[in-house]
Amino acid sequence: MKIRKVLKRAGRLVRETRMFVRAMQSASHPILAQIVPTRRCNLDCAYCNEYDKVSSPVPLNMMLRRIDRLADLGTTIITLSGGEPMLHPDLDAIIQRIRQRGAIATLITNGLLLTRDRIKGLNRAGLDYLQISIDNVLPDEISKKSLKVLDLKLQWLAKYAEFQVTINSVLGAGIRNPEDAFLIGDRARKLSFTSTVGILHDHTGQLKPLAPEQQRVYEQFRRLKTSLFSFAHFDSFQENISRGLPNDWHCRAGGRFLYICEEGLVHYCSQQRGRPGIPLEDYTFEDLVREGARPKECAPFCTISCVHQTAMLDDFRERPRQTLAAILERRRKLDSTFQPPAMVGFLSWLFLDERRRGPLGKWILNILQLKPTAATPTRRA
Ligand code: SF4
Ligand code: SF4
Repeated sequence: MKIRKVLKRAGRLVRETRMFVRAMQSASHPILAQIVPTRRCNLDCAYCNEYDKVSSPVPLNMMLRRIDRLADLGTTIITLSGGEPMLHPDLDAIIQRIRQRGAIATLITNGLLLTRDRIKGLNRAGLDYLQISIDNVLPDEISKKSLKVLDLKLQWLAKYAEFQVTINSVLGAGIRNPEDAFLIGDRARKLSFTSTVGILHDHTGQLKPLAPEQQRVYEQFRRLKTSLFSFAHFDSFQENISRGLPNDWHCRAGGRFLYICEEGLVHYCSQQRGRPGIPLEDYTFEDLVREGARPKECAPFCTISCVHQTAMLDDFRERPRQTLAAILERRRKLDSTFQPPAMVGFLSWLFLDERRRGPLGKWILNILQLKPTAATPTRRA
């Protein structure tokens, strides 16, 4: 079991590196697509606008066609979300197809339907990542996604899952005990999961600044050691959101990020449904380029961090040296003892340390088709 887990992790690392290299080499394919296999959910969290109680699952053949279309567009990560995607009777077949088509398979679930057998089924299907959001320690009228309800499932995941598990806790309006977020993160780390904290948005994906107590818990989180992924997560984007400040960034949704609803339409994100609202089967490379480049007026106060992370990859692609240096500088201003995670250390060596980079560094930069110094102009194929 342990050896299989280690081998799978190594395989995942290779595929992620390939994804990173592809994102660096081309700006014309989606990096991440979220797709909804069913809108129905077995919970009814008070803040949520992404579920109903009546929808049927999208038929399997339709889901497979949509996965194939995303793969044909060159999508590198496909995330199943909902509603509650584990209510789909053919979820494992969908995950298998994502993997067969060479994409990284990710699942966002409320975790209620996880059993030992379902976890083993997800292993067999080839799931790469699973994310569970836990909102509180004890269930309340806002949310039943609580540590008390889910802790046994987390223990099963720690024991049986061969995929990587991320536990996301939340801060923001409607969350009664901000301290819960830290306790949830602590439990996640004790079980060797990745932990992140998200900030609740309103029904258009827009910001609600944190109250002082929530800000304090957020700061506690930020001081924890983080992986590369959460390093990006805790960059100034999240920092500004937590303080109610706008972000200056270009949202590439519709190009580098796609949201596919249960009707098979492409939207910018879960909170901007209806734009552009084109059927996925008709979505072309021209659509990707046009919509990705289109300015979004909702960007300054947007809280959708996965879209921001895809944008960060493009910033890095276009201006690797400047982007990395700016991230490190901002982080060190906040914490003078900050030590970057291993991957960031590697990238710093590659892009910022000209003297020590040597022939190996030059060879890697060549493979990635990146220039360490001058900004490369944005060119969309
Ligand atoms: S579990 Fe997720 S999809 Fe279901 S109601 Fe809660 S937040 Fe919405
Ligand atoms: S900025 Fe982009 S990701 Fe954020 S709400 Fe608008 S369209 Fe969605």
